[in-house]
Amino acid sequence: MINFSRLWIWRYIRDKLPWYYEVAINRKPAKYLIAARVPVNEKLTELSEDELWREFDRALNDFLELWRRVKYNEVDIRNMPKASPSLLDLTAEITRRMIRHCEFCEWRCRVDRVGGKRLGVCMLDSTSRVSTYFHHLGEELPLRGVMGSGTIFFTSCNFRCAFCQNADISRDRFNGVVMNPRQIASAAVILRLEGVHNINWVGGEPTPHLHNIVETIRLIANQGIKVLEGLSNDEYDAVLSVKADFIPYNFSRDWASYDNELNVPMLWNSNFYMTVETTKLLRVLMDIWLPDFKYGNNKCAFRISRIPRYFEVVSRNHKLVYDWGEDMIIRHLVMPGHVEDDSKPVLKWIADNMPGVLVNIMDQYRPENETDPDSPRFNPEFRELARRPSREELMEVYRYARDLGLNFELISFEKRIDIKYLGDEDSLIERLDNL
Ligand code: SF4
Repeated sequence: MINFSRLWIWRYIRDKLPWYYEVAINRKPAKYLIAARVPVNEKLTELSEDELWREFDRALNDFLELWRRVKYNEVDIRNMPKASPSLLDLTAEITRRMIRHCEFCEWRCRVDRVGGKRLGVCMLDSTSRVSTYFHHLGEELPLRGVMGSGTIFFTSCNFRCAFCQNADISRDRFNGVVMNPRQIASAAVILRLEGVHNINWVGGEPTPHLHNIVETIRLIANQGIKVLEGLSNDEYDAVLSVKADFIPYNFSRDWASYDNELNVPMLWNSNFYMTVETTKLLRVLMDIWLPDFKYGNNKCAFRISRIPRYFEVVSRNHKLVYDWGEDMIIRHLVMPGHVEDDSKPVLKWIADNMPGVLVNIMDQYRPENETDPDSPRFNPEFRELARRPSREELMEVYRYARDLGLNFELISFEKRIDIKYLGDEDSLIERLDNL
């Protein structure tokens, strides 16, 4: 882990991701280890859903106070016993109730996904399929570090983006293998023992899998490495069958431990179309957030991703998480022909509402799926998206972001700028222009 903490980028952005950094190097416990020490009402199963939420709001205050004290070294949770039941048990119980009238995301389908007789927009019952998981070496430098981001890809999605680059996962709900929370926890534990710097919950979209992710994290908190012991041979084979690392990694408990407990930062990599209820539950579990902010207006969002009320929902969630003082990196994908309608309004909104936040302005859009003229799925309605963004469009967005004072250059350009020139950050765009 020494190499991770010596990455050049920490000199410039450590103050933006302070909690994540400390958990990644095991100097602080992940939030789930703190939540596991917050006691809640013992009769959870007897409480109504409204009563569970009232209990959550009460326990959340206790959690936030304990988290604050941990941050400022006023308390050492290693001296505190785990609670039973804990805030993690309460969070799991709430998701078990919510899925009977699913309102995990703002589609609010209100279907009972247990048994799966009626499905919502995401087309999922209560089971989760993992398409693949591995050390992701392509994420932003603070996330991929030196050993990768431990990325777990769930199938299906609540969006229908015409250009989706993961359509094999997001549009095929039967992709991958069914995994129960113990199997998912085992995959996460294996990744952390192999040195990843975080567990990256993604898809498709992770939100429809909230109940299984919460249960997974509860298992990791309570059992740590022992989750592996509870697997049958068949379950273990299924876990290994979708691990997609081509190089073997060594195991080390030193990479994965806070004292004797399994410790790893949890990362929410999402389209951010969650309900406020879901976002609140995630607040006690996620150590860092990686939201997409694609569209600056609802018309484009509905036409291209078939999603209603995009801007108010996604901007609301960004602001919530920012105002909570959480660590986050926002991703904005520049789309061809959408600089004025989408990139500029999104970046302006971020500058006005989330000053100082890290932003990754992404240039890797390429035509895929319904926007790819060579695909049988090509839809001429999306003709303007059938190319990559031009150099002029990208530079226009970069300059606009710089004029707004956004904090985006190091995160966005780190793979292309020679780090020996760092220190002269204002000129990164000009240097890029000359490459
Ligand atoms: S996760 Fe969202 S899309 Fe899926 S059933 Fe629930 S509310 Fe509907």
